[in-house]
Amino acid sequence: MSVENRSIEENKKSLNFIEAIVEDDLSENRNDRKIQTRFPPEPNGYLHIGHAKAICMDFGLAKKYGGTCNLRFDDTNPTKEDVEYVDSIMEDIRWLGYDWNNVYYASDYFRQLWDFAVLLIKAGKAYIDEQSAEEIAQQKGTPTQAGTDSPFRNRPVEESLDLFQKMNRGELEEGTAVLRAKIDMTSSNMHFRDPIIYRIIKHPHHRTGTAWKAYPMYDFAHGQSDYFEGVTHSLCTLEFVPHRPLYDFFIDELKCLTSDNSDYRPHQYEFNRLNLTYTVMSKRKLLQLVSENLVNGWDDPRMPTISGLRRRGYTPQSIHNFIDKIGYTKFEALNDIALLEHAVREDLNMKAKRVSAVIDPVKLIITNYPEEQVEMMEAVNNPENEMMGTHQIAFTRELYIEKDDFMEDAPNKFFRLAPDREVRLKNAYIIKCTRFKKDTAGNVVEIYAEYDPQTKSGMPESNRKVKGTLHWVSAKHSLPAEIRLYDRLFSVENPGDEKEKDFRELLNPDSLIIKASAQVEKELVHAKPLENFQFQRIGYFNLDPDSVTDRLIFNRTVSLKDSWSKIKNK
Ligand code: ATP
Ligand code: MG
Repeated sequence: MSVENRSIEENKKSLNFIEAIVEDDLSENRNDRKIQTRFPPEPNGYLHIGHAKAICMDFGLAKKYGGTCNLRFDDTNPTKEDVEYVDSIMEDIRWLGYDWNNVYYASDYFRQLWDFAVLLIKAGKAYIDEQSAEEIAQQKGTPTQAGTDSPFRNRPVEESLDLFQKMNRGELEEGTAVLRAKIDMTSSNMHFRDPIIYRIIKHPHHRTGTAWKAYPMYDFAHGQSDYFEGVTHSLCTLEFVPHRPLYDFFIDELKCLTSDNSDYRPHQYEFNRLNLTYTVMSKRKLLQLVSENLVNGWDDPRMPTISGLRRRGYTPQSIHNFIDKIGYTKFEALNDIALLEHAVREDLNMKAKRVSAVIDPVKLIITNYPEEQVEMMEAVNNPENEMMGTHQIAFTRELYIEKDDFMEDAPNKFFRLAPDREVRLKNAYIIKCTRFKKDTAGNVVEIYAEYDPQTKSGMPESNRKVKGTLHWVSAKHSLPAEIRLYDRLFSVENPGDEKEKDFRELLNPDSLIIKASAQVEKELVHAKPLENFQFQRIGYFNLDPDSVTDRLIFNRTVSLKDSWSKIKNK
């Protein structure tokens, strides 16, 4: 193989299948080499990480091939939609690092869609059905059994036109009439069995108010909206595969009835959804968690929403890296949440400043250290990145260490503090525990130790080997903090898929543990909302936006232990 051919082959291999389609379209000069995509959320909830996968595809493709990507709100069901959702969706897309060329709304096309529906009725290709939803469903048949015609299927065109107007003027009650496309009640594709294309909704719309009472269904609005906008590649998830023939059918009808003889037409392509273990990913279920107060809002750090992940301390880069790793295929999969956690750990390892925080403090008194002395110890901000420099941490006679870093009767393998044993205090001295004090309940309340002045980090003597290194903060020079330890929201791998139990019964009761009496080093007074840190030996944390100066609040993004690497290296 020639060098040139080999590099073409390699390029093809690194493309995902949709990029390969786009490159093929470009090389064939299809649609005059125009690449236009859209991200089409329904503003009925906050975006979740599944949407991020679609966003990276829609915006990423346009960016890579010099095309355009528009944001289109698919607002065809006013009962569930709200401007709050519109605003949050915009914020989340921007946070992921993308911007749209234009913002459109499916409701911008209500007039055009209406006109198209009228053309269909006039051409004898659509009719008003006045049966109940149950009757229509019964006549639908099954994939192996043909459906039966509605008694209204062949009603006069004039009657349908008149009723369509009445539907929209609010003269008919919800559920009493629908507009159906007259296609084929025997089709093997159930979507072709006279699909409903308009229904009556009397709830006011967040943009068009009460102007419309007849609303187009998804299958009638989506493809046509793509066409009106000039979308070339309409990307969606695999559950829309069976809808694609109907998508094409309506585009054909629209081009035909409006005498559009151009070569332009949008095409739909489908990729696999993002599904994650230990969480749910449907907006309906996420809305239930929020409205039933099972979590603290859409941006609860346990939620798989973009706003939840942001508040939890995830970075846009970590989400991009995760999505790159799982890739785009034509096969459904359940992705391991450990891979997402691995991605944020990897990113924060390079970016997060190392600081000291003691989550469950117990006092440690260095009895041979002068009472009023304060020594500023140098702490490296990030060993992975020298450019991040150092900061100072105050060392004093009275310190806090973690309760579980001390044990009264410690086994040999306990490489932390115990009576008569030595440990190093990170960035400071080697100390030896001399005694400890208990309260009446038997809890250790104070630990006493002596330090060796020759062992300060950086001194020649400091090379003396001790088995453990503990983090600590100065009692006087630290700040009280609340630390929110988050864990997986559900206790089973696939809560949405359990047959026996409702997903809400499967919530992990320990998904949030609040540690109210933590002490953190003073440096953290400068922390900005959402800023990421590594609490040494514990994990990655960020400052919660609810934090106030005299009560700092930190969220655990992820612990230091990486269960994914273990799985991977098995
Ligand atoms: P949900 O099922 O959670 O309610 P949805 O599909 O109704 O989601 P939309 O707002 O209609 O939500 O989705 C906008 C776009 O995001 C669609 O193109 C959809 O295919 C895509 N999308 C939604 N969920 C996922 C997911 N889990 N993985 C990848 N893409 C997704
Ligand atoms: Mg949808």
